[in-house]
Amino acid sequence: MQNMEKNKVKLGVMGWPIEQSLSPDLHNHWMKASDIKGRYKKLACEPENLKGFIADLKEKKYLGWNVTIPHKTATLSLLDSVDERAKVLGAVNTVKNEDGKLCGYNTDGEGFIQHLNNSATNWRRDKPVLVLGAGGAARAVIMALKDAGVPKIYLCNRTKEKADTIKRDLDISNIDVANWDEKSGIVSEVGLVVNTTSLGMDGCPPLEISLNLADSDVVVYDIVYKPLDTALIKAAKDRGLKTVDGLGMLFHQAVAAFEIWFDRKPDINDGLLDELREQFL
Ligand code: NAP
Repeated sequence: MQNMEKNKVKLGVMGWPIEQSLSPDLHNHWMKASDIKGRYKKLACEPENLKGFIADLKEKKYLGWNVTIPHKTATLSLLDSVDERAKVLGAVNTVKNEDGKLCGYNTDGEGFIQHLNNSATNWRRDKPVLVLGAGGAARAVIMALKDAGVPKIYLCNRTKEKADTIKRDLDISNIDVANWDEKSGIVSEVGLVVNTTSLGMDGCPPLEISLNLADSDVVVYDIVYKPLDTALIKAAKDRGLKTVDGLGMLFHQAVAAFEIWFDRKPDINDGLLDELREQFL
């Protein structure tokens, strides 16, 4: 019995608070479907206990874990190695324990772009993009857009200095930092509008932007997922624009983490994402 327990894979998501996390629903489903014995748990870790908590997970031979608010940056310096992407972003969302060496990764950008490519196949990669927000999520989104080869990124944030800092930190020359009140005008020049601010999220005011100048092929992507039908998504639908919601980004960053741990992708065509979307709407 003890041996059977020992052979079970241990995974989890570490954050504070953590009760709201959807990740166990995804990973436990995929592990079961892939015949992998083990469990993915919610790991509640207070910020002041981070170092000891990580040492404990290593001691308990966790294969890995996801990292969420508020630990994404602080975890970086507590690992044995960190891949280039996570280093540039200054944030880790996935850790793998490779024979006692803890390696850090960041799959948020991959989640963002995979979901966009899957759900808006014809999005205009040849046109500029408007990114709203300059927090942690914006960094991952911007790097993914750069890798996708978009010609220009207009970056608008309420606090303009933070957008300037992102441009400098990520060292991307084709970022054009614009004022927060210029956003509705910039819509006329872009093929994709991405909200990475927390505006529109439960408990926050809505994002106020006019889509009146949008061409008919503009895609509007809101990475907020609580709720899924934010005011921005509703306004875009009212104008007949293609919309992409935040749940798929969460889903696909988890797919990429699963792949890091198990060297294979889970089956993502079994309707799980649609089921979760039903729960959210
Ligand atoms: P963050 O680092 O705290 O950044 C928050 C951003 O929102 C900043 O740009 C901030 O602007 C802006 N903001 C907040 N209140 C504002 C207001 N009243 N007016 C204008 N701008 C305001 O947060 P984050 O980690 O980047 O997350 C941002 C959102 O993305 C959250 O809703 C989060 O749930 C969501 N998210 C989704 C996924 C997914 O997988 N779908 C992944 C990560 C994050 P200032 O700089 O001016 O404060």
